[in-house]
Amino acid sequence: MNANRNADAALERPIAALPGVGPRLTERLARLGLTRLGDLLCWLPQRYEDRTSIVPLGAVAPGQKVLVEGTVELAEVVYRRRRSLLCRIADGTGAITLRFFHFTPAQARGLQRGVRLRCFGEVRAGPTGLEMVHPEYRAVAPDEGPPSATLTPVYPTTEGLTQQRLRQLAARALAVLEREPLVDHLADQLPPGWPSINAALQGLHRPPQGTEAGLLESGKHPWQRRIALEELIAQRLSLKRSSLAVRTERATPLRDTGGRLAALERSLPFRLTGAQRRALDEIVADLGRETPMLRLLQGDVGSGKTVIAAAASLLAAASGRQTAVMAPTELLAEQHFLNFARWLEPIGVRLAFLTGSQSPAARAQVLHALETGDADVAIGTHALFQEAVRFRDLALVIVDEQHRFGVAQRLSLKNKGDADGRSPHQLIMTATPIPRTLAMTAYADLDCSIIDELPPGREPVRTVVMPEERRARLVERVGAHCRTGQQAYWVCPLVEESDTLDSRAASELSASLAAALPEVSVGLIHGRMRPAEKEAVMRAFKAGAVQLLVATTVIEVGVDVPNATLMIIENAERMGLAQLHQLRGRVGRGLAASTCVLLYKPPLSDVAAERLRVLKATNDGFEVAEKDLELRGPGEVLGTRQTGLPQLRVADLLRDADLLPQVIAISDRLLERHPERVEPLIRRWTKGTTEYAKV
Ligand code: ADP
Ligand code: MG
Repeated sequence: MNANRNADAALERPIAALPGVGPRLTERLARLGLTRLGDLLCWLPQRYEDRTSIVPLGAVAPGQKVLVEGTVELAEVVYRRRRSLLCRIADGTGAITLRFFHFTPAQARGLQRGVRLRCFGEVRAGPTGLEMVHPEYRAVAPDEGPPSATLTPVYPTTEGLTQQRLRQLAARALAVLEREPLVDHLADQLPPGWPSINAALQGLHRPPQGTEAGLLESGKHPWQRRIALEELIAQRLSLKRSSLAVRTERATPLRDTGGRLAALERSLPFRLTGAQRRALDEIVADLGRETPMLRLLQGDVGSGKTVIAAAASLLAAASGRQTAVMAPTELLAEQHFLNFARWLEPIGVRLAFLTGSQSPAARAQVLHALETGDADVAIGTHALFQEAVRFRDLALVIVDEQHRFGVAQRLSLKNKGDADGRSPHQLIMTATPIPRTLAMTAYADLDCSIIDELPPGREPVRTVVMPEERRARLVERVGAHCRTGQQAYWVCPLVEESDTLDSRAASELSASLAAALPEVSVGLIHGRMRPAEKEAVMRAFKAGAVQLLVATTVIEVGVDVPNATLMIIENAERMGLAQLHQLRGRVGRGLAASTCVLLYKPPLSDVAAERLRVLKATNDGFEVAEKDLELRGPGEVLGTRQTGLPQLRVADLLRDADLLPQVIAISDRLLERHPERVEPLIRRWTKGTTEYAKV
């Protein structure tokens, strides 16, 4: 289609080509990622200011952002604590002081007595009455008309780039738009009543008189909805497209030879749950193909993902290929290693363990085994990413708790398998359920298996919220608990993002608990201990020799000791929902009923109280995740910076969640029937962000 081929042609022109746009301005715009006219058009206001009426100075109050007008009565530079320029204006009903900490001599000279100023800014109570700090202002002529009748857009900006300048540039982009409207890629996809892309952009840059400010404020204006929809579609298309690209790559099919999967299942001390079986079937089907698997395995803590990962790596070994299994902490890598060893070594799979803290000799041996193919499965931490690690034939990459790894790291591991022109299959496991709303867009590039069932006989963990004052009673209770032969965790205050401080706090706590409970054997584990020490403590805890394990949040993910049925979490008010849910998942892993006590230090903030309430109310990881999303926002939940996902400008995954079914339907239809629209849409909204999405 002709219109499509020339799509947005006018808007491809560089901003630098506009008259009056010099190198300095170009550089500042580039800092925001704005290089083409079209970028300006899609750079939308983040909010609007109401400057439609002048408020009498006698009627303004602190906290208001208002437009005022008055005559300069006095302007002077004063040298109290900080040099500042003060300018007093009055309008007959009252007066206000304008205060500037940064100003030029010319600016000071311009504020002469009798000059009439129109100012916009936030009113606050100053030392000598009401004032505005660094208001926007300009002199007005005696015959100046009324203020603008329309809302004033405020753009996201960077240092040295004023709102006025951005407004001018937007106006120029709009002028181009009027002559050469954008192609509306969604016009035939939307039910009647939706604004066109052009109307939406016009409206948002320059809301006409009478536009409802409140509606814009809420982000629910039809123009905003139209843009949000297109932006989300573009994001999904960009993820879909890169995964389509991966799927055109070739992979080595991994198949079960010699009935080894059945042998594994026979040797397990349990039967797979229905949900585990479904997930495994999906994975087995994927691995048998000549295109790489890209699958996310989601399952709540304790749902049994590890054995599924082991089964997948068994298929690779059965096909004579290698697997890399990556865990976010040494402790977890060690645990995986022990589990894999227990399950796989008896049926002839050769394992290797790699972490950053091994001796050079041990390390050299592991590297050699991987390079020669003497090891089938490598289990380790970040150390697996390193240059020196080479595989003979890496065909499967398994990443546990992927949100802790960046996309770039995942890519680097994937590349280790690219040597023969084939890409490894990828399995990503997470115990942090991703809220459905996020998964539909952010993880559009991954197929998804969900283990939504816990192994039989598990009792839901009972969660108790308790203020610190009851600590003494709690210590007694922990003692009684341990005397029954069951075990407990005591998770220590998170002092700061500092291993040292956390570890010291943990040591002190373990000493005081040991003193209070002389008959209980207390163990300690924290991030500053050497891996061998940690492993020794963990072993002792698993074996029951340690009854009460005092730990920092190093035990957050993955650790598995079914006989531990009580967990105390101190300073629970400082931790996030997802983290608390992960920690709580360390108990409730056996047949006995478990309890999790969330100890907090009053007073609780509203958000903290809400978090604790949610945890008390539900054990369902998906519900926790939805709530987490609500409290923290999608960027935090996904770790957007890490994942390299395109930043959304207008759309808000929470506010616009109801658009998602349409987003999915339309983007899939475009991919299928209008592939020529895909590139232009992606280019319009996700500029410069597609590189990372290719993983
Ligand atoms: P997660 O999904 O949190 O990684 P794990 O893989 O650590 O969970 O499994 C939790 C515990 O449940 C482990 O002790 C594991 O051996 C056990 N387990 C896994 N699958 C089953 C099952 N089908 N029946 C009983 N126990 C199981
Ligand atoms: Mg796990």
